[in-house]
Amino acid sequence: MKTIDHWIGGTAVEGASGAYGPVYNPATGAQDTRVALASTAEVDVAVAAAKEAYREWRHVSLSRRTAILYRYRELLDAHRDEIAALITAEHGKVHSDALGEVARGLEIVELACAISHKLKGELSTEVSSGVDVASIRQPLGVVAGITPFNFPAMVPLWMFPVAIACGNTFVLKPSEKDPSAAIRLAELAAEAGLPAGVLNVVNGDKVAVDRLLEHPDVAAVSFVGSTPIARYIQSRAIEHGKRVQALGGAKNHMLVLPDADLDVAADNAINAAYGSAGERCMAVSVVVAVGDIGDDLVKKIADRATALRIGPGTDPASEMGPLITREHRDKVASYVHSAREQGAEVVVDGTGLTVEGYPEGFFIGVSLLDKVPVSADAYRDEIFGPVLCVVRAETYDEAIELINASRWGNGTAIFTRDGGAARRFQLEVEAGMVGVNVPIPVPVGYHSFGGWKDSLFGDHHIYGNDGVHFYTRGKVVTTRWPDPSDGGINLGFPRNH
Ligand code: NAD
Repeated sequence: MKTIDHWIGGTAVEGASGAYGPVYNPATGAQDTRVALASTAEVDVAVAAAKEAYREWRHVSLSRRTAILYRYRELLDAHRDEIAALITAEHGKVHSDALGEVARGLEIVELACAISHKLKGELSTEVSSGVDVASIRQPLGVVAGITPFNFPAMVPLWMFPVAIACGNTFVLKPSEKDPSAAIRLAELAAEAGLPAGVLNVVNGDKVAVDRLLEHPDVAAVSFVGSTPIARYIQSRAIEHGKRVQALGGAKNHMLVLPDADLDVAADNAINAAYGSAGERCMAVSVVVAVGDIGDDLVKKIADRATALRIGPGTDPASEMGPLITREHRDKVASYVHSAREQGAEVVVDGTGLTVEGYPEGFFIGVSLLDKVPVSADAYRDEIFGPVLCVVRAETYDEAIELINASRWGNGTAIFTRDGGAARRFQLEVEAGMVGVNVPIPVPVGYHSFGGWKDSLFGDHHIYGNDGVHFYTRGKVVTTRWPDPSDGGINLGFPRNH
């Protein structure tokens, strides 16, 4: 059995707690890997390594940091295939999709390569006679990242390149379901010349997370995962005086207006709903069909859905792989069954699928549910699987009211040829990321990613300018170089003149 350990202080460190979690190959259902689960003492070792490294790293020049990040970018680029293969082996997503994840993660390293530009401060001269004021931003210290299973490379890359570029040191706690990619990211960072202790990876579960949340030397926590855990992370981190950003779950709506090209809309709905088996926080899980297009649109989506090829992620012919675990697969199936009982029309039922040669794999086919009541569990909950709900709305106003009533507000999209309607939608919709004829509007690295409502707890979105802001704190320096003539006693409040 292969064991995945920790990466602390620039080297692989064997798990010492004696506790391990299973890591499956979702395509075969086999468990031939286990991951060490850190104890609080092991987390403390990682935080201590990061704290020690911070003493020097914060003073390493911007040009040296940038040079390391450039080398890191090149190494990641050269190892795209290898990282994607690790993702496919433990997560299950198809290789091409895993490559896309690595590519989007690389964007953030490229952003971090431009850190010297992003960290420029502001200077005002002569704010008063002979007085200058400079605003600068400084690193926080040791910061922690806690990441979900569904993007085992990209989400860690949303965090640590920006954090370390800003001069912080980092402790990453990746998902225990697919931890190999994170360890490889850390090894490559060391190869790029990142000093020992600047980036550490501790594997683990709630025990490790709780220790990071309460550790007095951890200054800030970035979290990406499900809504209940995001809410918990935010409150615990605040309780312990930490800066926190906690990105949660989603239920993303795609609004289709009657003037849209229905073939384009159907293609996009398929890609966004079933890509990565629906295990994306930006997956479209609800299509809102406005006016009388519902029947046509549902037929077009159903025709495409039944033609999808589902199989192991290592097979280039597969368009969709398995789900992450057997339990999750069964839970996803239960939503299709309950939706039928709760009044939805099951147009395509993927729950019975078996894949030849992979009888134990965690596969499920794609499902399409029409006329889903908003009271149904399949509409109310985040399913996080290949299940697309269609709801019907008479008008644009009814559709936007429905979307804005959702407790989540991560991504949303409108499909239309009407610029005026699209503009209204951009301004009126309550979500953090909006696509106009773009179904998965994940912002590029130099903008920031984040949702509203139950999709994000905290004030900062992640990466982009928000990321730089999150991982730094402001300082304002007021300077005067006095002449002897500037002396004299004056107890009045200093005024600018
Ligand atoms: P999860 O919340 O179960 O786990 C996320 C992380 O939290 C993992 O590292 C896990 O070990 C840890 N964790 C789990 N339970 C914990 C507990 N009780 N106490 C402390 N830590 C705990 O999420 P997941 O299943 O790995 O990922 C899927 C979820 O993540 C979905 O809800 C998805 O929408 C969300 N997600 C959101 C975004 C976003 O940007 N908003 C991006 C990716 C995934």
